[in-house]
Amino acid sequence: MTQDKPGFDTLAIRSGHERSREQEHSEPIFTSSSFVFDSAAQAAARFAGDEDGNVYSRFTNPTTRIFEQRLAALEGGESCVATASGMAAILSLCLAVLRQGDHVVASRALFGATTTLFDKYLTRFGVETSFVDLTDLAAWEAAIRPSTRLLFLETPSNPLMEICDIRALSEIAHAHDCLLAVDNCFCTPVLQRPLELGADVIIHSATKYLDGQGRIVGGAVIGDADLVGEEVFGVIRTTGPSMSPFNAWVALKGLETLSLRMRAHSEQALTLARLLESHPAVEKVYHPGLESHPQHALARDQQSHFGGIVSFVVKGGKAAAWRVIDATRMLSITANLGDVKTTITHPASTTHGRVSAEVRERAGIGDGLVRVAVGLEAIDDIVADLCRGLDG
Ligand SMILES: *Cc1c(COP(=O)(O)O)cnc(C)c1O
Repeated sequence: MTQDKPGFDTLAIRSGHERSREQEHSEPIFTSSSFVFDSAAQAAARFAGDEDGNVYSRFTNPTTRIFEQRLAALEGGESCVATASGMAAILSLCLAVLRQGDHVVASRALFGATTTLFDKYLTRFGVETSFVDLTDLAAWEAAIRPSTRLLFLETPSNPLMEICDIRALSEIAHAHDCLLAVDNCFCTPVLQRPLELGADVIIHSATKYLDGQGRIVGGAVIGDADLVGEEVFGVIRTTGPSMSPFNAWVALKGLETLSLRMRAHSEQALTLARLLESHPAVEKVYHPGLESHPQHALARDQQSHFGGIVSFVVKGGKAAAWRVIDATRMLSITANLGDVKTTITHPASTTHGRVSAEVRERAGIGDGLVRVAVGLEAIDDIVADLCRGLDG
């Protein structure tokens, strides 16, 4: 049997690394701020960009490049640029593609800091953002202006797991000469490959599932060679939010087990979601793998698995939700996600605490809502820990 293209797991484990003269088996960490040239002429050629090769680790670093090439291969993109954090990835994309007078249309259901970046900081530079409901394609199209340059979303959304039809929205974006950016943090390329669905650029917070064990903060932008390899890379090498080689090494080792972990997170989350759905103390469960999810069919079509996040409404409002959280003994009370350790959080008073109660209520993020990022501990222990407060 011949295979013309390596499979996903082979790329995740082997792509991007060219062995050095030392014949190392595991990818090395190059802790070197700068690189040495053979001659003055070579230095000049490297600086001018006439010759490929390393110059300085703000620009490129051999370890960071392994992570970039591996993630690009997994997402099916031509280029990837690694960044110091997920937010640095989003900012770098904005600096690369937006200028004064440009307009952005973004989902209302975004990571909090992303909303703040658009709403508070980009406005200072003359870039305005309109926020629309993630799932309302007509609202996206209606919000587009002649000056709109970028459409930005996350799917599934946090914490309510709403799904956007990436293929349909990419057609709308391209009909109006806009770029479509998808923050693929919740799915990773194991579950969803936005470039194949028509998106132009992908954002990652490597802090989450790519590392997968809660050890580093990092990010990445993936897309074609012009947009990412030239424009975004130009921003990074000039402004400096590069990923450190150590963090790149941690994240690239994380990629090696990404598909095993994502399938396991998804399986555990679906088991938990089904159990919670039948629990008398639970009013409602949000997980795209449930048949009760309004976009279950779209999630099934667009994603290979449903992901590791489960949100649910505890009957009795905030007091009841806090009781469930405080009754846990094993689960970690923290807003981070994408870790092998299960985390639990109360969105209304943490990640969405700064949003007014009215806006929160309209968005469906009520006081009884609890979000669990399901980890890889024994599922029976996760269930038992949650039931301490639910059964009581
Ligand atoms: C965490 C997160 C970010 C920001 O990433 P950092 O690495 O924390 O800067 C962006 N988008 C989503 C969906 C996230 O969960």
